[in-house]
Amino acid sequence: MEKTRLLIVDDEEDDLNIMSHILKKDVDECYVAKSGQEAFSIIAEKKINIVLVDILMPNMTGFEVCKEIRRSYIEWPLQIVVISGLTNDHFLEQAIEVGGDDFITKPIVALELKRRIKVATIRLKSQLKMHNEAITLKETVAQKDKLYEELSSTNEELKVMANFDTLTGLMNRASLFSTIDNELARSQRTGAPLTGIMLDLDHFKRVNDNYGHQTGDCILTKLGTRLKKYLRRYDYAGRYGGEEFYIVLTNASLQQGFVIGERFREHLDKNDFLCEDKKIKVTVSMGIAQYRENESRDDWIARADKALYHAKENGRNRICLE
Ligand code: GH3
Ligand code: MG
Ligand code: MG
Repeated sequence: MEKTRLLIVDDEEDDLNIMSHILKKDVDECYVAKSGQEAFSIIAEKKINIVLVDILMPNMTGFEVCKEIRRSYIEWPLQIVVISGLTNDHFLEQAIEVGGDDFITKPIVALELKRRIKVATIRLKSQLKMHNEAITLKETVAQKDKLYEELSSTNEELKVMANFDTLTGLMNRASLFSTIDNELARSQRTGAPLTGIMLDLDHFKRVNDNYGHQTGDCILTKLGTRLKKYLRRYDYAGRYGGEEFYIVLTNASLQQGFVIGERFREHLDKNDFLCEDKKIKVTVSMGIAQYRENESRDDWIARADKALYHAKENGRNRICLE
């Protein structure tokens, strides 16, 4: 339990002495102030949690002191007991209105004063308990929010991992297929041409054999990046298998697809890969096929694959039609 820190505010020195003498054993710390101004600095400095304040004081009345304390310490658990020589209902109401918790009359009777401070201490304890519970609740809510945020970003990462190939950053096979299915449906609906390219790295086994598997991986990663850069915004590429990729060119005829494919092939032919300080030339072969109405996804891909076979047969580093 937090310490009870009492401040008695009264302009009359005799009353201050009497009251602090009566109460000093009932609280952990006891302070006195002769004016409202003096009271505020002590409240802040000593973290006062019970204030016993006289109403009739020059400059600043006890009511004004009460108001100011409540205004300044909205969230701070603090009990205020008001003292007055006058005991009419109006004073009592006013004392409550300005934020007083209890009311005691002069002349001071020791037992009564002790009892009032004891009751104030009990109220303070429950106030502190509620205050601490509110803090704990706030912290719990904040923790929950943080946890939720972390969970959402993990979910996002999982989604990316589920749809994309980690090595190349391109779509994985499953996500490639579902994208193709959407595009086929769209093409059937709109009649827009759709062209596919099966791309395979030439003699990639040799690259692995000569430079190591890690360098091979590095090339695949960089190829993925280049491919994304070379495709138009509305085209897709996915990793079909090990060093085989399938490119979906939306709204592109065979001739238009050929131009796009040929441009990429030429780019690779002219620009070596730089992996682990080694410049490595890697070419690709491609087979291209335009989607035919009502054709299945597999049939379409198989025609592009057949065209790729021709490209390999005819010397690689080229793009072939079926
Ligand atoms: P071709 O021109 O006929 O396509 O020759 P190739 O050597 O590329 O074809 P092959 O099918 O004989 O070999 C494919 C090679 O690609 C062998 C395999 O280790 C490599 N490969 C497939 N996936 C990966 C990968 O993820 N990382 C690395 N480093 N190599 C891979
Ligand atoms: Mg190959
Ligand atoms: Mg292959």
